[in-house]
Amino acid sequence: MGELRYIVCSAWPYVNNVPHLGTMIGSLLSGDVYYRYLKLRGEEALYVSGSDEHGSPIEVEARKRGIHPKVLTDAMHSYVSELIKKWEIDFSNYTRTHNQTHIEFVREFMKKLYERGYLEKKKEILPFCPKDKIFLADRFVEGKCPYCGYEKARGDQCDNCGRLLHPTELINPRCVFCGSTPIYKETENYFFKMQLVRDELLKWLKNNNELEDNVRNYSLNWVEAGLRERSITRDISWGVPSPLPGTENKTIYVWFDALLGYISAVKEFLEKNGRKDEFDSWWKNPEVKTAYFIGKDNIPFHAIIFPAMLIASGEGYQLPWRISATEYLLFQEEKFSKSRGIGVWADEALEILPADYWRFALVRMRPESKDTSFSWPEFFRIINTELNDDIGNLVHRVLSFTWTRYDGKLPSSASLNNELK
Ligand SMILES: [Zn+2]
Ligand SMILES: [Zn+2]
Repeated sequence: MGELRYIVCSAWPYVNNVPHLGTMIGSLLSGDVYYRYLKLRGEEALYVSGSDEHGSPIEVEARKRGIHPKVLTDAMHSYVSELIKKWEIDFSNYTRTHNQTHIEFVREFMKKLYERGYLEKKKEILPFCPKDKIFLADRFVEGKCPYCGYEKARGDQCDNCGRLLHPTELINPRCVFCGSTPIYKETENYFFKMQLVRDELLKWLKNNNELEDNVRNYSLNWVEAGLRERSITRDISWGVPSPLPGTENKTIYVWFDALLGYISAVKEFLEKNGRKDEFDSWWKNPEVKTAYFIGKDNIPFHAIIFPAMLIASGEGYQLPWRISATEYLLFQEEKFSKSRGIGVWADEALEILPADYWRFALVRMRPESKDTSFSWPEFFRIINTELNDDIGNLVHRVLSFTWTRYDGKLPSSASLNNELK
């Protein structure tokens, strides 16, 4: 053992809220279990993630509270970081997207794509609020989903059916700040021409035997149906400033920024530990395996867009080795919803029971092949019957037996073998 090296990556929690139980098991806790397993086997591994703090939802929340987005995310980042420690999630580096290493890395990465001809400036028509006098990018606009009819679909994605949307597709759009009906105005944004790496992407999707079926099939369908260029700059102020010509007041779209955090978090970790020179031997080394833990709504970003970005950079970054995408954890048959008070959040959970119980029960309930619903009776059955009775009794009996028969010292396996004979 110990010949291979691993980078374990958990999806970055978006810190407009405290993570709920579904986020914990979908990414942070699952990655932690895998990372601990690798360490037990004696493998060399790093485990990285961080607070995803840019983009329109944070800006919406900050505007509502009348504060700067950074004031909001400073507080949320330190709160979530503390919670992660209390849940005993053992990151090598849990960082944030508004740190200098990350910001510089993302800007350089984007310039590289631009120089290599993968970015294109295009005019587009976007909703504009006549009252607030801003473009209504992404979550600044809500309306009815054209695919499933959900009334509160956002300008970038429908939370109900999971489809990625363009704001002009929304039926009856409205500004989330003032409720006004937007007008449509022309703006210019940069687009990432993902279709240029289609062949390499297909080759990787088909040939990487470690990809799980749900990830591969979903992604193949998407890529084979035709890749569209995706806009990667935004008319919003909270984010990584775009380094491209003619984009002085624009920021980089949050998904482009956050995905690169897997790389910049390793870079930052190595820099902080005086191991800067090792960077290429991690991210650009074919012997290093990268494993991602995400929820299924994140498949397009991790199995299509991120690999496309890595290929387009021409920098030799390793494409994903494994992507473990969980189905949804429901709460008593319903979706977690802070506004409707449905669910348990990572901080509330620890007020009820210590982290060990939650860690065990959530891993036991992990929604691997279909959506799974959390229920209190099942939670207490797992704790009482499986953890306390089965495992607890086994450990207790082994320890007390060792105490009474072997003076509290574990006998060597050789002497035990003799006794068994
Ligand atoms: Zn929908
Ligand atoms: Zn408005």
